[in-house]
Amino acid sequence: MNKVYLRRKITPRVENGHPWIFSNEVEKIEGEVVGGEIAEVFSHDKKFIGKGYINPKSQILVRLLTRSKSEEINEAFFLTQLRKCWEYRKKLGYTENCRLVFGEADSLPQLIIDKFNDYFVIQTLALGIDVWKPAIVKAINEIFDPKGIYERNDVPVRELEGLPQQKGFLSAPFDTQIIINENGLKFYVDVENGQKTGYFLDQQDNRKAIQHIVKGADVLGAFTYTGTFEIHAAHYGAKSVLGLDISANAVAQANKNAELNEVHDRCKFEVANAFDVLKQWGKDGRQYDVVMLDPPAFTKSRETIQKAITGYKEINLRGMKLVKPGGFLVTSSCTNLVQPDLFLQIINMAAKDARRKIRQVVFQTQSSDHPIILGMENTHYLKFLIVQVQ
Ligand code: SAH
Repeated sequence: MNKVYLRRKITPRVENGHPWIFSNEVEKIEGEVVGGEIAEVFSHDKKFIGKGYINPKSQILVRLLTRSKSEEINEAFFLTQLRKCWEYRKKLGYTENCRLVFGEADSLPQLIIDKFNDYFVIQTLALGIDVWKPAIVKAINEIFDPKGIYERNDVPVRELEGLPQQKGFLSAPFDTQIIINENGLKFYVDVENGQKTGYFLDQQDNRKAIQHIVKGADVLGAFTYTGTFEIHAAHYGAKSVLGLDISANAVAQANKNAELNEVHDRCKFEVANAFDVLKQWGKDGRQYDVVMLDPPAFTKSRETIQKAITGYKEINLRGMKLVKPGGFLVTSSCTNLVQPDLFLQIINMAAKDARRKIRQVVFQTQSSDHPIILGMENTHYLKFLIVQVQ
């Protein structure tokens, strides 16, 4: 087994819980490094810190899996960890759908598992976790006796690890359009061709937060994807709902979801570029009681953070202008580099530019099946804000 010794400066961060070791943070490595194998990590003064998987092809050389010297990384380890993840979610009240494993926040770096009732979608985004895919699948089978497991490893980040992009069944084939229940509503989830793993579970608790403000309201939702927020709005008593998305597939799925919940008489979807349409409708003087925005991440790198700030400011400015005085803007950001304080500042700047007064009603984060490790910013990525716009 490789032994990795950290530089003195780096030791405290890793000892205090951070699971990543970058290649330039290492003083020396004993043994020949083979990508994907388990390595032991030691402090600069040779104290054991933990064990993790190593990949010399990746900028992050080691990601820790355990802090225990005696714990073996084997099939039994993954079975135990997945059981713990499930116990945690059950404790929080999740029964049917949840993110079962949220990577680093569950001490299983770069492993994502979403549970959609009896179906599971998995992503192994680093070599060192990918080699354990058979063990992970075995553990899912043992704990859940699932109806199906699907791999959504068609993700570019895998290439940084020297892994191919791929997707497919990890169980007997099944109909990949499955139906889930959420907050008393039903949604189709396309685990094969949908975005990410097919569905955004991270907003499941936030969708409930619009319940009272949409009653009797004319609602506009942009970046709707499969229409989840909009269908919630219709269900909670909105008078009319229009959802926009740039993807024709997403809009088709949203329309199917509206029919499935029998709200299609008052909940419509259209293919549109939200940036263009919101600007035009602002000029036309259109007004809504509630405007909801949930754009995709605008950047993943620090170099282009300004682009993200500009994007959020612009879209929120356009959204706010469409809100009737006294109405509400419901706005989200999933860019982890835009931390909560910065997001609030951006919304405030947008309000100033729109010459509107706002007050914060609700400010939340991702649902609690996506736990946050304090000090690991990338685990705290979702901001969900409702403001009243005067
Ligand atoms: N609110 C959704 C998730 C939205 S994901 C939910 O809770 O399920 C972001 C969506 O924005 C994607 O569906 C993507 O197709 C869409 N999108 C990206 N750029 C867009 C644009 N310029 N105009 C409209 N939609 C866009």
